[in-house]
Amino acid sequence: MAEARRRARVCILGATGSIGRQTLDVCSRHAERLEVVGLAAGSDARGLAEAAARLHVRDLALSDASSASRELLAELAPSAACEFGERAVAELCERVDASIVLVAIVGAAAIAPTLAALRTGARVALANKECLVAAGSLVCAAAAPGQIIPVDSEHSAIFQCLQAGRPSELSRIWLTCSGGPFRGLTREELAHVTAQDALRHPTWNMGPKITIDSADLMNKGLEVIEATWLFGLDASKVSVLVHPQSLVHSMVEFADGETIAQLGAPDMRGAIQYAMSYPERWKAPMEAPDWRKMGPITFDAPDFEVFRCLALAMEAAHVGGTMPAAMNAANEVANAAFREGRIRMTEIDEVIEVVMDTTSPASVESLEQILEVDSRARRAAAACIQELAR
Ligand code: NAD
Ligand code: MG
Repeated sequence: MAEARRRARVCILGATGSIGRQTLDVCSRHAERLEVVGLAAGSDARGLAEAAARLHVRDLALSDASSASRELLAELAPSAACEFGERAVAELCERVDASIVLVAIVGAAAIAPTLAALRTGARVALANKECLVAAGSLVCAAAAPGQIIPVDSEHSAIFQCLQAGRPSELSRIWLTCSGGPFRGLTREELAHVTAQDALRHPTWNMGPKITIDSADLMNKGLEVIEATWLFGLDASKVSVLVHPQSLVHSMVEFADGETIAQLGAPDMRGAIQYAMSYPERWKAPMEAPDWRKMGPITFDAPDFEVFRCLALAMEAAHVGGTMPAAMNAANEVANAAFREGRIRMTEIDEVIEVVMDTTSPASVESLEQILEVDSRARRAAAACIQELAR
């Protein structure tokens, strides 16, 4: 009889969101290989209880420690062992002795949980990009070589393409970008789009924050910085390439000028699964594209004048130190204000620029310092938004 395979113990941080739910789907499809042992969320007690019931998961953590959340969870998941508060989220992967931690929390809230996950020695399948933008040097210093496997589709693509050469032979990354729903608009037109317009993303179905980031191209700026940390490159070696079909997930150019691309369906479950199966490849969670029916594949340059968020993120990458943390925090606040209809889309970059202009960047020394820079930038962004609303 074949020896029973030991299943990987998977802990999902941010289990109720877009990536979290797709991860649960991948885990259900490969239940003989992946056992979900821990789930965490921010404030969605109902979503957490439902996911726990569906996959028979006992150990949970909810960042929101209010009595309303505690009562709701006790009512919906009476047999679960749920801990509450930010610390409980960070400590969950150790509590459940996870072998894979999938980090799908949105925003800089993922920094401490990601560092905690790395300390356990588990594989960290990283979907969250803000933790690398804000605290890339701390996250990379805490990671053993190969411990982080990227989930972001472009970075998963680069990770796969890099297997065609040696890291030292990499000369440039071509980071593809759908261009978002507002590709081709003028700055004036961009000033009049609404959050509802932006939520209609052409190719990906994502959480609300990244949907707006994808519409104003801040997402691509964050991804440039994410790539510099994951692959140990200067931002000048990362070129953004507009590719509306989202079929080429990114490309790597090697020293000899040869370029390797990774193509696939625009479905995050491919990258999520690969981050857990690597170095193996398992049965696909979705249909592979029939390339005869895919039509033309096009490439173009991004418009840095209209999409100023991208230019600002590149500038933050260039300045380095604590500047990307300030830029990221300002973006989180401005992105939320746009979703709430309090500012225009073009004011997102105005807020970020004001915050960057008033930030004196320092070299990154500690988590406490990054969290301090983050809260200072949030306060400055909130004040700037109040001014704009007058
Ligand atoms: P989402 O808003 O759909 O889900 C976010 C999840 O994080 C939810 O489960 C929420 O409860 C949880 N959460 C929020 N604050 C928390 C906290 N303080 N502690 C614990 N959990 C918390 O977001 P998403 O679209 O799934 O994106 C998640 C991350 O993955 C983001 O960093 C995003 O940039 C990245 N990403 C997403 C996609 C995508 O297709 N959705 C693709 C690539 C990368
Ligand atoms: Mg991406």
